Amino acid sequence: MSNQSHVIGSIDTDLYQGTIGDALHRAAILWPDGEALISKHQSLRLSFAELLVQSQNFALGLLELGLKPGDRIGIWAPNCAEWVITQFATSLAGMILVNINPDYRPRELKFALEKVGCKALVLANKSEHANYVQMVDDLKTQGDLACLEHLILISEQQQKNYHNFASVMQNGQSKNPQRLDEIQKTLQANDPINIQFTSGTTGAPKGATLSHKNILNNAMFTGLTQNFGSADKLCVPVPLYHCFGMVMGILAGVLHGTCIVLASEKFNPAAVLEAIQQEKCTGVYGVPTMFIAMLDHPDFDGFDLTSLRTGVMAGAPCPIEVMKRVIADMNMSEVTIGYGMTETSPISFQTSKDDPLDKRVSTVGRIHPHVEVKIIDEKGNITKCGVKGELCTRGYSVMKGYWNDKKKTAESIDNDGWMHTGDLAVIDEQGYCDIVGRVKDMLIRGGENIFPREIEDFLFTHPDIAEAQVFGVHSEKYGEEVCAWIRLSPNANLSEDDVKAFCKEQISHFKVPSFIRFVDEFPMTVTGKVKKNVMRDAMNKELQS
Ligand code: AMP
Repeated sequence: MSNQSHVIGSIDTDLYQGTIGDALHRAAILWPDGEALISKHQSLRLSFAELLVQSQNFALGLLELGLKPGDRIGIWAPNCAEWVITQFATSLAGMILVNINPDYRPRELKFALEKVGCKALVLANKSEHANYVQMVDDLKTQGDLACLEHLILISEQQQKNYHNFASVMQNGQSKNPQRLDEIQKTLQANDPINIQFTSGTTGAPKGATLSHKNILNNAMFTGLTQNFGSADKLCVPVPLYHCFGMVMGILAGVLHGTCIVLASEKFNPAAVLEAIQQEKCTGVYGVPTMFIAMLDHPDFDGFDLTSLRTGVMAGAPCPIEVMKRVIADMNMSEVTIGYGMTETSPISFQTSKDDPLDKRVSTVGRIHPHVEVKIIDEKGNITKCGVKGELCTRGYSVMKGYWNDKKKTAESIDNDGWMHTGDLAVIDEQGYCDIVGRVKDMLIRGGENIFPREIEDFLFTHPDIAEAQVFGVHSEKYGEEVCAWIRLSPNANLSEDDVKAFCKEQISHFKVPSFIRFVDEFPMTVTGKVKKNVMRDAMNKELQS
């Protein structure tokens, strides 16, 4: 092995060259009666054959509405079976699925849907967390969302101006499925099939555009590392709108014949523990915060988790102690850590059950197949092993680009195809990687990426706020939490609660600052840059005391 921080994954296993539709057909042939999806909160179970038929019917229903291959179809709902059916139906019809975070508030929804020109939106009705219909109706009344031609409601009820999900599916059922075969013949593995909103290395959300080939292969390799097969049942409590759920979960399930178990609409530790026990799940996914919440649940000892074997912890730095507890107390002897980002489909590094224990709990493992990574210094030169620098990824997994944004794409992917991740890492001589920090101004609260710039810009829209600086502070529960230091306009008078109330209805709850301080000035460098590290240290000290 060279002593440079440059690693190339094995090419022993060929890349999958089919489309998502091909993969679903293959699953329905290989494991027709095998359980594909169990949605506990909906009391619903589907075999692979049933999942294919329902997805085909919904695809035909979408075509019947006049939607065409290449159209963008948004999905805005917490975890449910209809999410999965929509994912496969759009793929079968060659339509591009646009994942919308169910925590988004109207201004964020409008931005995302209009940015990629969604023609249809499949949405949940109301949950305990949000009234989706109300938010869409309000935007429509203001003349927004003009690109949307169809609204499809996941609900038993009929609602004016909305198609009903079941009716669209029923409508498709009577149509000739040959139409899908004809579309299938025109689809290529390299076609864009999914857009996921992410902020990349800067503040404004952008639509990372991914192909069948990108996400199917990542799902295949992530599943292989966990040795998934048709006897496995994987509990997926991470949100489906994120690649952790819909790629590493749903697509891995279809490729490996593994059953996916959804425990609840949104993460709920008790529901996950119960689902694992009842369904005898062999794997479970989670960001570190989710595992901490499960381990710390007051009834944890009462659950039988002996069926567990594997899973993935990823999305944020994974504390060594939490990993050790997951192995010992959750019986997950083969659990792996993954590292990646949406723009790389997502996983680039993953530990393996055969790695030595210290590497399995303290690193993100080694390079994934068919992927290449280098660590570069500030001049762009590859560093020596053990020397920190920015992690860059190249290979099949790199997204096609940000939707309709050549400039931002060129800022992230260079002319040689390297995706510059904004993460700081070191790679040792055996190829194990450790994520040690970020060059991007981002914080991660319980697995949700937050870009301070976006919140700063939003706070600035308040007439009484002259300037705001947002940064992450340490949190036992969430890893990091949002803190804002605010300088008010002259003679203005705002309280912490006023600021929180201003944020609450307009930005996702996880972006609302947990801590707010009013200041007269910010600590600055001599060159006039705000010193966020000084503010962060001061807050961490204050919050600890
Ligand atoms: P996303 O695009 O939402 O998947 O977020 C990707 C970002 O999450 C990466 O660029 C990292 O900053 C962070 N991340 C993901 N996995 C890990 C991990 N295992 N350890 C540390 N940071 C991680």
